[in-house]
Amino acid sequence: MDLEKHDFQLEELVERIRNNDNRLVALQVPEGLKIQALEMIDAIEGESGARVILAADPCYGACDLVHDKMKMMGVELVAHMGHSQMNIDSGMPTHFIPVTYDGDPELAGCMPILERHREIAQSKMDSNTSGSEVSEEEAKEMFLDAVGRSSTLEGIKLGLVGSIQHLHLLEDYKNRLEMAGFEVVIPVGGERLTFPGQVLGCNYSGDEPTIGHYLFLGSGDFHPIGLVLHTGKPLAMLDPYTGDSSEMSFERIERILRQRFGLIMAVGEAGSFGILIGEKPGQMRRSLAIRMKKLLEKHGKRGYLLALDHVSPDLIDFYPVDAFVNTACPRIAIDDSTRYAKPLITPYELEVALGEKKWESGYQFDEIP
Ligand code: SF4
Repeated sequence: MDLEKHDFQLEELVERIRNNDNRLVALQVPEGLKIQALEMIDAIEGESGARVILAADPCYGACDLVHDKMKMMGVELVAHMGHSQMNIDSGMPTHFIPVTYDGDPELAGCMPILERHREIAQSKMDSNTSGSEVSEEEAKEMFLDAVGRSSTLEGIKLGLVGSIQHLHLLEDYKNRLEMAGFEVVIPVGGERLTFPGQVLGCNYSGDEPTIGHYLFLGSGDFHPIGLVLHTGKPLAMLDPYTGDSSEMSFERIERILRQRFGLIMAVGEAGSFGILIGEKPGQMRRSLAIRMKKLLEKHGKRGYLLALDHVSPDLIDFYPVDAFVNTACPRIAIDDSTRYAKPLITPYELEVALGEKKWESGYQFDEIP
């Protein structure tokens, strides 16, 4: 990652600190930028006169705003870097510091992938099915088929999305793609998302039936995996850091779906479950956890509510339960389940295991709205 090309926009933060005469400020920085955190502290303290405490615990999203512990330390303002405001209130005044990356990757390498994906979308639209009756075996096949979602397509538009530090590029790339003959939409999602085209690992609510395939501007496969699991639509990736073009393979998604299928089958006979509740403000789904407990009771099983700030194998593996249902960050069950000694599933997967949801509806991503 070329840190020189990042723009850490600290001016507004310094102005806010000065205007409010804040004396003690907490700084929260995403993992990839922590290497620069001390430099940022020097800049903020030097310009504003306030003292800065680095919240040094891991931070993977705006769901994870520091709150009561910092309040107890006397912190007056939280400065949260690299993520955008969500539809949550942590109870602390919070200033979001945008970080943008000044990249200009070539689209040429992406074009053959996008053209192929448009054809896949077209053939999927041509074969839209009416949702006729299916057998149990066919239903399970449909569950495992990454592109076999029951929702029908109404168009083959290219959805243009990105991770937050690249969103300022989207309008320009939309124009370039339109010049190349694509019909492009920058999807607007729900309240958890602040900007058009934004995606989070737990929210792809901008998806719509007229979008047939996607281009993601960003690096890594975290967002692409979630987007394809959620939508079943082909996705090309363009990395502004390296300029590389690639695609998220359906084989990879189907491997994940087979793993989810195996876990759902494995918990069918389980009698007791730990139900994880995330303590982070943007991961706390208490009502969902209680609904899961009631559902387990309805099926004659035990559910124990366990609240954690940070979910990890050493903090839960030892409990004498048969499996865990995770209502905290959805990606813990999807991306990390092999690290846990016992099956770790999402609430939707529990509903399928208990027969409350049908296999033929296809896989349903655990989205936090
Ligand atoms: S994917 Fe997980 S860590 Fe990222 S914003 Fe969503 S809940 Fe938070």
